[in-house]
Amino acid sequence: MMIVEKYGGSSLADIQKIQQVAQGIGDRLRQGHRLVIVVSAQGDTTDLLLDQLSRLSQDPDPRELAAYLTAGEQMSAALMAIALKNQGIPAISLTGWQTGLLTDSNYADARVLSLTKERIQQELHNGRTPVVTGFQGINPQGDITTLGRGGSDTTAVALAAFLHADRCMIYTDVDGVYDRDPRRYPDAVKYDTIPHQAMLQLAHQGAQVLHHRCIELAIEHNIPIQVLSTFHPGPGTLVGGGH
Ligand code: ADP
Ligand code: ASP
Ligand code: MG
Repeated sequence: MMIVEKYGGSSLADIQKIQQVAQGIGDRLRQGHRLVIVVSAQGDTTDLLLDQLSRLSQDPDPRELAAYLTAGEQMSAALMAIALKNQGIPAISLTGWQTGLLTDSNYADARVLSLTKERIQQELHNGRTPVVTGFQGINPQGDITTLGRGGSDTTAVALAAFLHADRCMIYTDVDGVYDRDPRRYPDAVKYDTIPHQAMLQLAHQGAQVLHHRCIELAIEHNIPIQVLSTFHPGPGTLVGGGH
């Protein structure tokens, strides 16, 4: 089975968490699955980068802003590949450019168009686990673009679609999708399953647990998404899938 697994920033916030995630990846590889890993920037890195830049410019050039902000994901991908290799797992970090994730030229909020390279398939074929940077792509000129805040989810669904993966797992810091933000509303109710359209509505209402573009892409390509907790075992919520 080929599975795309995406890990959000809080799941990668420190070295211990990266090692824990790498152990889970190792367990699933030993079960015989082929995995493609997608990572966000660690913790609040993207916010910290933006904060630092604001002292230099209030209106940065969009192309340079994208080049700057995508550094966080590159650090995570390299760290995760190193953590996997430390466990004896062949792995390789890949950027948006290296994977050929083509987008339009809207640098701050680009739409994914296609996957133009076979690099991920080649690495899988050679027995290496690709660790792909979330949130970033390249435009037809070969310049770096970003998929909008929270856009690593979209990277995961796009790769699941283009690679015809069997599953797309979004690992995060809550154990599924709730009817309201469970951090703000302790009485929020968790869904075991939720149709794509209902999830899209929740995302438009501000539920950041899944990026709205990732759900749109999942609808377009009919991809079910499993949303689950990185560190607390459980089935989470199945978004789409038979609805
Ligand atoms: P990640 O870093 O893994 O991408 P995000 O912070 O983007 O995680 O999204 C997870 C957060 O979304 C949760 O911590 C939660 O507070 C928030 N959230 C908002 N609305 C919902 C909801 N309806 N169901 C689940 N989580 C929600
Ligand atoms: N690191 C990016 C952000 O903070 C993308 C993501 O986390 O999905 O928006
Ligand atoms: Mg997110």
